[in-house]
Amino acid sequence: MRFEISKVLDAIEGRVCTDPSLARAVVDLAEVIRYQDIDGGRPASLLRLGMVIDALSRELEEDSVQVYAVVHRALLSDADLTSNERMVVRRWADDGLVEVLDNPGDRMLEVADLLGLPVLTRVRFDGLRGRFPWLVEQPGRVVAPVPGAGGPAFIAHVGGGHAPVAGKRSPTGAKLLARQWRCPESGCALFGGGGGGGAFADLTGGADRSPAAQPPPALRNGVPTCPRHGVRLGDGGPRPRTEVLAVRVGGLVRRRFVLSEEQPIVAGRAPEQDGGIMLGQWLNDEARRWISRGHVQFELRVGEVIVTDISTNGSGIRPAGSMTESDRVPLAPQQSRVLGENDMVELYPGVQIGRAEELPTGAPFTPTSVMAEAPTMAMRLPRP
Ligand SMILES: [Zn+2]
Repeated sequence: MRFEISKVLDAIEGRVCTDPSLARAVVDLAEVIRYQDIDGGRPASLLRLGMVIDALSRELEEDSVQVYAVVHRALLSDADLTSNERMVVRRWADDGLVEVLDNPGDRMLEVADLLGLPVLTRVRFDGLRGRFPWLVEQPGRVVAPVPGAGGPAFIAHVGGGHAPVAGKRSPTGAKLLARQWRCPESGCALFGGGGGGGAFADLTGGADRSPAAQPPPALRNGVPTCPRHGVRLGDGGPRPRTEVLAVRVGGLVRRRFVLSEEQPIVAGRAPEQDGGIMLGQWLNDEARRWISRGHVQFELRVGEVIVTDISTNGSGIRPAGSMTESDRVPLAPQQSRVLGENDMVELYPGVQIGRAEELPTGAPFTPTSVMAEAPTMAMRLPRP
């Protein structure tokens, strides 16, 4: 049982991040883990984060969605969590996957404001509606996870909307995210010059955080500040540009990834390159035979996405909305092309990669649960 729970926690670990390009909602971990009514289990459980992430995945009709978790420092020693859960949260903190704060205050709303993300919370924030007008103006920006028939569902605090809705990055957010920032504290997991540290950094890759993936600084009296250390951040120059791409297989968006100017990314059945996007697990036998280990390479150059076929069998490019084979322009092995705004590259029929906002899920949606490994019993385990 214990082993299976570890596997679930590992799966949940893949769904928490502080990357402004990948996070799809903001949560307060200390709040979410105490939604006892969701499973009737023990007072606090890290598995509830997985259930809420699953619910978000169902709402957004997309697999592998990630959330930005703000974590009160006290949680690292919360006696209602198991020692294993506490260890896992500490690891996330060390790797900068979550933001740990001595006093979270309204940081969750600040992150949501800067990044334009919905907030998953039961708190109503009545006193903060002046500072964050979207709390009232945009129904769906703040939704409460509540027990539902097939797992948690979301209800809006204000108005009729029930599904979490994303807004736009605030002008301040856009400005802050145009720069990279340095924290003077050594080994800062959020704004370090190589980030990470921590015993598990080597295993998770937290040690070489790209400046393109830095979280938004906190603003204290208008000054960019490290939310963890409360000190003024140094300006490290322009942040590398990024483009968010999505992988769609069989009509379902399986994952997103961030392409930055810093380095090209290879996608294929099982790429050997660092940071490669592996598609093998979503492919049927025919697709697996057709698609090369490394099949296409993406580069971001002066704002344009260049796609190069590096496969044996070639690819095709066509408009994201198109369903007809005749729109397909072949991309021969070793050939390069600029990927137009609405274009997607097709590695094999039904296996596509394009800009995330142009590539919605277009099929009946059955998400892979992040809780897939969890035996029903695990939800009701007594505290050891
Ligand atoms: Zn710091």
